[in-house]
Amino acid sequence: DEKSVLLRERLDISVTGGYVPPPILSFSSSNLSAKLLENIESIGFELPTPVQMQAIPAALEGKSLLVSADTGSGKTASYLIPIISHCLGFSCDQLSERKPLAMVLTPTRELCVQVEEEAKLLGKGLPFKTALVIGGDAMAGQIYRIQQGVEMIVGTPGRLVDLLTKHDVDLSDVSIFVLDEVDCMLQRGFRDQVMQLFRALSCSQVLMFSATISPEVVKMARSIAKSLVIISVGKPDK
Ligand code: ADP
Ligand code: MG
Repeated sequence: DEKSVLLRERLDISVTGGYVPPPILSFSSSNLSAKLLENIESIGFELPTPVQMQAIPAALEGKSLLVSADTGSGKTASYLIPIISHCLGFSCDQLSERKPLAMVLTPTRELCVQVEEEAKLLGKGLPFKTALVIGGDAMAGQIYRIQQGVEMIVGTPGRLVDLLTKHDVDLSDVSIFVLDEVDCMLQRGFRDQVMQLFRALSCSQVLMFSATISPEVVKMARSIAKSLVIISVGKPDK
């Protein structure tokens, strides 16, 4: 509608490929749990960044997205907040049998560690646990942690493909699949591993983030999500 159009124009946001709700101007207008809002505030996030304003309500609607916005624009919370919100919807009755509900892929271990750190802050005091699946640490410990019950796994493609072959990890409830830094993922040659993971899971929502949008990035995104909304914020990086 007209309100969305004007708001997006002002925020330099473009949306193509389908309907998504208008941008939110505050975190509290997105219907998040009080505790999650409290955590957002204690981290020091007063207002959502432009990418968060549009990607959060779109992701909360269950849409599959390809989101491009500059480095440093707050893309991490754009997917972590909807993931935590999704997981809280399950947590009351299923605390006894917690299985991963979301999987986040990033191209490097360091990035995985950063994403998990932010997830811990956002999920503090909530029934939301995370596990890292990255190289450099024994896999047995990582698997054990998942078996003890976590909602979200964060890992690099290679290690996650290893995880797939471990029959003692149940990934059947993973419904949100996140690809962070898709451009970098392609540059590093992770395409086949990403596709292998995607095919092995049965996710209903894919959230993809990239600083740059090239034809390769769009092609990969389309091969993963049949119905894809593309959100671009600002001018793409060159
Ligand atoms: P990107 O993934 O787009 O490169 P990040 O998610 O890593 O960006 O965020 C960059 C920095 O901005 C981080 O230090 C993060 O804590 C901070 N940040 C994210 N969202 C907000 C917000 N709404 N308000 C203030 N700071 C934020
Ligand atoms: Mg990022």
